[in-house]
Amino acid sequence: MPPRARSAWTRTLGQLALVLALALAIGLLAGRVWPALAIAALGIVAWHYWRLRRVLDRLTSRQRPRATDGRGVWNALEQQLRQSQEDMRARKRRLVAMLRAYRAVAAALPDAVVVIERNSQRVQWFNPAATHLLGLRHPRDVGLPLGERLQAMQVSHWLAAGRNAEPLLDAPSPVSPDIRLSLRLIPYSHEYWLLVARDVTKMMRLEQVRRDFVANVSHELRTPLTVVHGYLDMLDPAEQPDWAPMLREMQLQSQRMTQLVEDLLTLSRLEAQDGVAIDEAISMGSMLATLRREAEALSQGRHAISVEDVAGVDLRGSVKELHSAFSNLVSNAVRYTPAGGHIDVRFEREGDGAVLSVRDSGYGIPAAHLPRITERFYRVSTSRSRETGGTGLGLAIVKHVLNLHQARLEIASEVGRGSTFSCHFGVDRVLSRDPAPIGATA
Ligand code: ADP
Repeated sequence: MPPRARSAWTRTLGQLALVLALALAIGLLAGRVWPALAIAALGIVAWHYWRLRRVLDRLTSRQRPRATDGRGVWNALEQQLRQSQEDMRARKRRLVAMLRAYRAVAAALPDAVVVIERNSQRVQWFNPAATHLLGLRHPRDVGLPLGERLQAMQVSHWLAAGRNAEPLLDAPSPVSPDIRLSLRLIPYSHEYWLLVARDVTKMMRLEQVRRDFVANVSHELRTPLTVVHGYLDMLDPAEQPDWAPMLREMQLQSQRMTQLVEDLLTLSRLEAQDGVAIDEAISMGSMLATLRREAEALSQGRHAISVEDVAGVDLRGSVKELHSAFSNLVSNAVRYTPAGGHIDVRFEREGDGAVLSVRDSGYGIPAAHLPRITERFYRVSTSRSRETGGTGLGLAIVKHVLNLHQARLEIASEVGRGSTFSCHFGVDRVLSRDPAPIGATA
């Protein structure tokens, strides 16, 4: 027991003894000891009840308790209660101030922030930016399912994916289709999720300007290049032996430039096609036969080439784009494999989907380059790429084409041993072949 409480007890017990002693003395004087003691005891009990009631009143009243003086046990109790109430109030004030500060930060954010309940996806709280960007209104939308409120954005499926939802990069705002938003779902606790929407209108506009610029420049370069290329082709190096090496170089370079422009135009076309459904039936038998012909023409007998079709299914998509992707992979395999190596193209089933893989026994790619290898103009060795007539755009085209088909590119490579590039297609892209020559070899 703390010394203060101990002295309060001693004091109260002392007072009690004093009152009883006084009552005893009065009782002895008056010759009525028991009645005097009984009256004193009743008085003491009544006084204690009165103090108890005062404590209860103070606890239940919403007023701030007044400071009490006196040193008895009841005063000590009242002081103790008052102290803990003060502490609680101070803690509450601090918490409220902290909450206000957090809310102020969230309110000052330019991004829309919405807290939703995980299971029901009902809106719990949102900041003012959510009103400007997502059209949510206070208090109307609090407690309503977010998917319903953002019906125009068609995000219900995306929200349902929850933890696995990939960020949505370019979605029109329900407030105005001119506002483009990028959406992210952040599961920050077991019960609540955070939806963050960022205005990416300016970024998207810049991206569009960049795309248009590349497309226009490539388009404008195409005609003059065709003319130069045409005239260069008409010049026969045999007729001008002195000029022969220069003419050959000029023809080679103009061919490279034409290829570059063609590849840039292909990329621009693919970007413009983003999200457009492509749904042609692709005969993989003839696709693989074409790839074999192309590989043989490029290799000119320097490699052992095998093409196998063991999938027994076809694909659904764009013949032109998929051919361009596959043929880029085959051409890379030939160009980056020294003479005497082998190149295997294989089309097979993978679960419910299908996979086309191009394996070579070539130079291989160091692991450090793999994460960036599909970027435009990214090359492991610029000189080797140039020597073999590369533009640095082949794999970027492959990646775009596969994205258009909701397929993914996987690369496995070992320096000095070769590489395997595989294109994995989901079940939606697989088409059963009619009639089905399962196990046929192209
Ligand atoms: P490029 O026109 O230079 O071949 P790509 O985009 O097709 O451009 O390929 C990018 C880079 O990836 C190439 O420069 C090359 O270094 C590397 N690469 C691509 N395919 C292979 C392969 N089969 N074997 C080794 N390296 C490869």
